[in-house]
Amino acid sequence: MKLTFAGTGSAFCMAADNFQSNMVLEAVQPGSDQPARMLIDCGSDARHSLRNLGYMPNDFDAVYISHLHSDHIGGLEWMALANYFIFEGHQAKLFAVHDLLEPLWEHSLRGGLQISDQGNNSLSSYFKVNELSPAKGFDWQGVHFDVIPVEHIVTSQGTMLSYALFGHGKKQSFFLTTDAIFNPDAHMPLYQKADIIFQDCELGPRHSGVHAHYEQLVTLPADIKAKMWLYHYQAYPKPDAVADGFCGFVEPGQSFELG
Ligand SMILES: [Zn+2]
Ligand SMILES: [Zn+2]
Repeated sequence: MKLTFAGTGSAFCMAADNFQSNMVLEAVQPGSDQPARMLIDCGSDARHSLRNLGYMPNDFDAVYISHLHSDHIGGLEWMALANYFIFEGHQAKLFAVHDLLEPLWEHSLRGGLQISDQGNNSLSSYFKVNELSPAKGFDWQGVHFDVIPVEHIVTSQGTMLSYALFGHGKKQSFFLTTDAIFNPDAHMPLYQKADIIFQDCELGPRHSGVHAHYEQLVTLPADIKAKMWLYHYQAYPKPDAVADGFCGFVEPGQSFELG
């Protein structure tokens, strides 16, 4: 199983050489020479970031959605319509937790997708919708994924969750935080259990309070930082993460063999 970062930038990253933090997971089943691909989040940049890796929208067997910010879902209209009109109605599985599916359609996608061709009127006109429950997680290509609600935006009006992934690869397990506040108490059991951690990391002078900031992450125990890669960062000069005990910052296009 191979994880490739199509981009490693934040939602507002304006670097010329980076894209939003969406990833491509590839798995080859025994007896097949072609990998199946799952896109982890499909943001507004996906049309360009996937093309940059040489992929077309019909190269994906599945799409996982962590939460409803546009750097994670803003490319779904493009993927839906391109697959429908250009790639013979190819439908990827759409994995998302129950609580995301209705607002994803009603508040994010319906305006552009409800009327496109005779009979198209719902999310399932474009995707094979797989409604997930965090309690059960899901399986894809023989790998089990735990789906973990993590707090992303906490206000007095309410809390926006993102749904992190914990993948049980055959050789390596990995924790992909998606977008989350710095919450070491809640995340520590996952940090400890994972063989490799991909951690949302904010850079720069402003602490938004909705992502873990580098200055917070650097306070984590050495054994956790030693298996932690940082991504979802803005285009500020990067600190020397290796000197601070991390594996480093993931570079755009970088791949990881996860066994
Ligand atoms: Zn994001
Ligand atoms: Zn977000």
